[in-house]
Amino acid sequence: MTDEDWEQLPPLEGGLRAVQTLVIGGGIVGLACALRLQAAGQQVLLIERERLAAGASRGNAGALAFSDVLPLASPGILRQAPRWLLDPLGPLSLRPSYAPALLPWLWQFWRASRPARVAASTEAQAALLAQSAAEWPALLRLAGAEDQLRDGGNLHLYESEAQWRAAQAGWTQRAAHGIAFQNLQGSDALAALQPGLNPALRHGVFVPHWQTVNDPLRLCHSLAQAFLARGGRLARAEGQALLPEARGLLLRLADGSPLLAQRVLLCAGPWSHRLAASLGERFPLETERGYNTTLPPGAFALQRQLTFPGQGFVVTPIAGGVRVGGAVEFAGLEAAPNYARADAMLTRARRYLPGLRTEGGTQWMGCRPSLPDSLPVIGPSPADERLFYAFGHGHLGLTQAAATARLATAWATTQVRPPAAFAPGRFL
Ligand SMILES: Cc1cc2nc3c(=O)[nH]c(=O)nc-3n(C[C@H](O)[C@H](O)[C@H](O)COP(=O)(O)OP(=O)(O)OC[C@H]3O[C@@H](n4cnc5c(N)ncnc54)[C@H](O)[C@@H]3O)c2cc1C
Repeated sequence: MTDEDWEQLPPLEGGLRAVQTLVIGGGIVGLACALRLQAAGQQVLLIERERLAAGASRGNAGALAFSDVLPLASPGILRQAPRWLLDPLGPLSLRPSYAPALLPWLWQFWRASRPARVAASTEAQAALLAQSAAEWPALLRLAGAEDQLRDGGNLHLYESEAQWRAAQAGWTQRAAHGIAFQNLQGSDALAALQPGLNPALRHGVFVPHWQTVNDPLRLCHSLAQAFLARGGRLARAEGQALLPEARGLLLRLADGSPLLAQRVLLCAGPWSHRLAASLGERFPLETERGYNTTLPPGAFALQRQLTFPGQGFVVTPIAGGVRVGGAVEFAGLEAAPNYARADAMLTRARRYLPGLRTEGGTQWMGCRPSLPDSLPVIGPSPADERLFYAFGHGHLGLTQAAATARLATAWATTQVRPPAAFAPGRFL
């Protein structure tokens, strides 16, 4: 099937109304879980309300960011945030009209930023990322998509020596979790890894054990293809409410019809809390909206992914072209995109990559599903253990999808519980 063929999912057939395992959400997390469960012998139906990878899984930066062990909720971000917020098109923004709705989440974010909580989150995040690094090769093999992975590492670029020095504490923490990296000084050392940088850039950190995928959307299609080839079923349908019954979990669909499942995996990204609420479970799930521009082939001879930590964006080789983007905007799920953010990142990228050709790009906005402690929810619902939650992966959903799928499959097949750090109960 071509990429265009995947844009139309078949509607749910009338007769297909009772299933063993139902996965809700056709993003990278739902697809990885569906494929793993199907491969483990479960009979799986995946439903997606719109099209495959309709959300953040479609246009993200494509990084398997195994070294990103430090949670966003941390004293460092609290120090940096006020300066960032002053710039309306900077790395972090909050639409004023959305501020009241965000307050409860911010309160929990602040509480999660205390040193003891940060240490625990880092430990959990590092374990999940290590498991992801171990799981991705097997998942790619299962999907026949090994050729979609690109080695080359990531080059973090700092705008000043002071910024680079300030970042060293974070690198020391990463080292304590086994992350290998190399400090680089001088424009020649940087140019050896990426020619064409602005020579004013003189400080960097190279992370070799970091990979990117050629195109996150293509990867989703490959997982879907492998899932179908193994007998999995995929249909367009929107879940509206979950109702526990003795014979199974009943999902009421948007067209009013019921769908009965012995087990349900909720992988609906930043919309997951809406379905969880139908069982009375309320999660502080927010969205951190991100933006990017994908430039056509020939935009820049990019050797590997570049990260600009002080500016909150990355530049990635994607689908033969170059994707420039990142940033965080708190504005909820419904507000229209503000593509001035994508323009601003492109302008900044041009400053650091003077030869970047910025014409002919496609802009995109996606919603990261984010919980206040920067960790996903992965585990059975306390209200009904036939429901398994797998959402809230924030900035790392692509990276962590492989480990999440493994944890979901272990629960479904052997009742092994995921680590307590990801338990839904921590918010309930
Ligand atoms: C700018 C940007 C850059 C990023 N870069 C990276 C990166 O480099 N590396 C990385 O690891 N992560 C990255 N991320 C984060 C990553 O994209 C997300 O964490 C991940 O895509 C979340 O996947 P998901 O499957 O949980 O959710 P989604 O991709 O949002 O998928 C959820 C799906 O569920 C469907 N759905 C919702 N409600 C229902 C319903 N009621 N019934 C049926 N279907 C429903 C939606 O239509 C959607 O398709 C980035 C995100 C952004 C925005």
